[in-house]
Amino acid sequence: MAATHPRWMNESHIVFEDAATKFFEAELVPNIDKWREAGVVDKAFWRKAGEAGLMGGSIPEEFGGAGGDLGHEVVVLRTHGRTGDSGWGYGVQNIVIHYVNSYGTDEQKKRWLPKLVMGEWVGAIAMTEPGTGSDLQSVKTYAVKDGDDYVINGSKTFITNGTSADLVIVVAKTDREQGARGISLIGVETENCPGYRVGRRLDKLGLKSQDTSELFFEDVRTPQSYVMGGGEGQGFFQLMNQLPWERLQIGLGSLSASEVAFRETLAYVKERKAFGKRLLDFQNTQFKMAEVKTKLEVMRSFINDCIEKCIAGELDAPTASMAKWWGSQTQGEIIDECLQLFGGYGFMNEYPIARLYADARVQKIYGGTNEIQKMLIARSLDG
Ligand SMILES: Cc1cc2nc3c(=O)[nH]c(=O)nc-3n(C[C@H](O)[C@H](O)[C@H](O)COP(=O)(O)OP(=O)(O)OC[C@H]3O[C@@H](n4cnc5c(N)ncnc54)[C@H](O)[C@@H]3O)c2cc1C
Repeated sequence: MAATHPRWMNESHIVFEDAATKFFEAELVPNIDKWREAGVVDKAFWRKAGEAGLMGGSIPEEFGGAGGDLGHEVVVLRTHGRTGDSGWGYGVQNIVIHYVNSYGTDEQKKRWLPKLVMGEWVGAIAMTEPGTGSDLQSVKTYAVKDGDDYVINGSKTFITNGTSADLVIVVAKTDREQGARGISLIGVETENCPGYRVGRRLDKLGLKSQDTSELFFEDVRTPQSYVMGGGEGQGFFQLMNQLPWERLQIGLGSLSASEVAFRETLAYVKERKAFGKRLLDFQNTQFKMAEVKTKLEVMRSFINDCIEKCIAGELDAPTASMAKWWGSQTQGEIIDECLQLFGGYGFMNEYPIARLYADARVQKIYGGTNEIQKMLIARSLDG
């Protein structure tokens, strides 16, 4: 595939990409199997990534960041994605960092950002509940004021980085009579936190080394000053404002995984023989690979265009939804076609293509299901 850099990459991004690639090759790739078995990425790795300067791309230097732009964060996401690892939950960490940076009070920024950026702390965002996913306005977890604190009760599920999290941004009702306007985002520090309990680390179809857990809150106390934005009732709107970037992240993940699938499959069909010739010498293989290469190029153009817009602050919500649903749908199609070319080996977990296949499925579900994305795009049709 073309090794040229997309238009949004400047010299600083290119140098940074080189450093990030070397870091992942040395510190991440050798650990992928170990982390899959453990079901979680070592916390030591988070610190190493922080020390290597990977996690604070666009965050001001006064809060421990690099003072760069969103492009530096895209570089980390795409470089990580190209390793084929799906365990390290940097995407969610990045989202938490953005919430704190965008909506945090000065106290919250000073207290949380340096730790998150340096990888001393792992962050999680807890929206989904056993009874509520897509219909976020109906969350049941609630927070009531008591003295200087909030007291939080409720339960969350499917929370990425759940077991490891030192800071959880909890989506809670601060006014249970209201829908969207009753929702606030509240920070909970998990160390020595009575009533906070991590439930099961969930057994998943894919993303085997990604830590996905249940969380329980039973009279958990957290200071009232930890509400994001410094005031109640803004949570839903804060979530909506950050969603284009979060959805683009998923589209970007689809691109990286598809690139890995293409790379692995091309190498395989050049090497594997049947009926006395290479798989690539069959016209069916050539046509399939031609289709995959075409879809990949279209995806690359679209996602890079969205990245360019996002860096410029011009990515609108419907376009981000397109990147999420179409990227993940096309990723599924590409990986399915690629897996077929591996024959029986494609079904074996020791082959990366089998892992890519399992990991791809959830891309159509989390971050707002693809049906929800289409609803959001449809709303822009009649405007
Ligand atoms: C691996 C993994 C990691 C995750 N990480 C996190 C995390 O870190 N934090 C977090 O808060 N959540 C996380 N989630 C949760 C994820 O965001 C939700 O699973 C997702 O939003 C869907 O919610 P649900 O599972 O309750 O499905 P439901 O909302 O019950 O949906 C079930 C089906 O109904 C469809 N549906 C629902 N409403 C409509 C409608 N109005 N019109 C048409 N169809 C509809 C959906 O599209 C879907 O097909 C994660 C999930 C997974 C699997």
